[in-house]
Amino acid sequence: MKEKIEKIDRSLLRKYDRPGPRYTSYPTVPEWSSDFGPEDYRQCLKRLATEKKPLSLYFHIPFCKSRCLYCGCTTVVSKDSKRAEIYIDHLRQEMALVAEHLADNNRVFQLHWGGGTPTFLTLPQIEKLFGSISDYFTFDDEAEMAIEVDPRVTTVEHLELLRRLGFNRISMGVQDLTPVVQELIGRNQTAEETVDLFNHCRRLGFSGINVDLIYGLPGQDVKNFSDTIDAVIKIGADRVAVYSFAYLPGVKPHQKHIPPETLPSMTDKYDLFATAVEKFLSEGYAQIGMDHFAKPEDELSVALAEGRLHRNFMGYTTRPAADSLGFGMSSISELSGAFAQNVSKLSDYQDLISSGEPATFRGCNLTRDDLIRQRAIISLMCNFTLTYEAMDRAFDIDSRKYFELELNDLKQFIDDGLAEVTEAGINVFPRGRLFVRNIAMVFDAYLRDEGNENRQVFSRTI
Ligand code: SF4
Repeated sequence: MKEKIEKIDRSLLRKYDRPGPRYTSYPTVPEWSSDFGPEDYRQCLKRLATEKKPLSLYFHIPFCKSRCLYCGCTTVVSKDSKRAEIYIDHLRQEMALVAEHLADNNRVFQLHWGGGTPTFLTLPQIEKLFGSISDYFTFDDEAEMAIEVDPRVTTVEHLELLRRLGFNRISMGVQDLTPVVQELIGRNQTAEETVDLFNHCRRLGFSGINVDLIYGLPGQDVKNFSDTIDAVIKIGADRVAVYSFAYLPGVKPHQKHIPPETLPSMTDKYDLFATAVEKFLSEGYAQIGMDHFAKPEDELSVALAEGRLHRNFMGYTTRPAADSLGFGMSSISELSGAFAQNVSKLSDYQDLISSGEPATFRGCNLTRDDLIRQRAIISLMCNFTLTYEAMDRAFDIDSRKYFELELNDLKQFIDDGLAEVTEAGINVFPRGRLFVRNIAMVFDAYLRDEGNENRQVFSRTI
């Protein structure tokens, strides 16, 4: 069934446009502590060894041949593939360090290579890294194996090798196909190379091909962004992520090269997003979470309909919350009720790993309150609903009482027609989805602290 699209009042956009987390984790990264270090990570791994649950693995390949001006990732700009050779040797050492604690709890049902640009690696480097992973971990027959590819550097030979190794999902960076936008963001990628790569992926039998777009980029307007969306629909992407451009030049200095006057205003930015929602929904895609769209037969759409969608650092997933291990500089692990992050500088990462230490530099052990709020926030962000009964059962609480303050604070969203509170729980209406980060923020205990300086570090919610 096609969903109806409602235009949102400009006054609501102005009211709710404020800095806010995207909730890829709760507690959010700024709340983690540098007191959490290698020894804490080791303890988490030891606890994990006693569990017999399948793992999710993330490998961060930070290298890119050039830097796109909008980039928000942790990257190393280089044209020297020897640097990657050294890096993947360190990834192997890190796997050895981790595997030592895991004993035989090494079954993997989800693998993701992200970046940076994973296909910066040469074919022998890809084989070598994959071989190392296979030495330390065992893949489930049904494992989801995904990789991010940049059409500007990915060859057909790369795709053939990845397919042969067992990768079954591709995530393709597109962002915007308009030449003037590409010029302003320093990423020239022709429509032909994008379409060609997409068609090769299809021919090779990748079961899911995702396309990433960004709205709010310099030079974008409804007309040119519509053309990009039409092209993505035409090639038949299985899933499309439409991310909001996080313009944070204070944190990402390279973004200062983007002339601010070329950026769409907040209301123009909303129009771009509304255009994407309208076009994807009218083509039969389901809206997954706040900013993803999937074909109706895609497993994300099915999971959404059944209320069993999850979210982790790799995005939305149908896999139940698994312990996930991150490898490489800046990567994040979520395991045994804790988060742990590796150092973000390449040389620091390699030095620590060479010395036989995990490269953990910050993290946090989740309290019971964190776990309860994490569940509430994930439920709202993924499924646009929160059911008291499910919360009560999972945590042995009376969630109406536990969230008395929060339910009171939801009043403004109810008055604005964005959500409802019923006998059974909370529902976010389709017109409230754009504001789901604001609604989730109500449940964030750390944001309640007026003196918390981290309140301002996030990108804007609209
Ligand atoms: S290719 Fe991706 S990771 Fe690399 S600079 Fe561009 S946006 Fe950043």
